Amino acid sequence: MNVIREVLGFIFEIFFGCRHDHLSRPFTLQQQSYKVCLDCGKQLWYSPDTMRLLSARQVRRMQAIDAGEVKVIPAAAMPAANGPQLVPVSSRRPDSAA
Ligand SMILES: [Zn+2]
Repeated sequence: MNVIREVLGFIFEIFFGCRHDHLSRPFTLQQQSYKVCLDCGKQLWYSPDTMRLLSARQVRRMQAIDAGEVKVIPAAAMPAANGPQLVPVSSRRPDSAA
């Protein structure tokens, strides 16, 4: 049975890639946390706040924030806001602190 499982795992990897089952402990460099897959070496973004891997959507959002495409403003700073709002850089006030 173990041989069958190995063969099926090999075929699964060919079609769908690594399942990233064996991960390292989280590392944090330059305020970005990640885990590394010990099988294929892929770097997977990790949130120390939620202690979970980040989804592809969360990674894209984080990269957009780092690139300065959007700015996250806390709800307390914006009246009548129901949560953090994404604001394009072009509409930022120049006198506001970064
Ligand atoms: Zn992997």
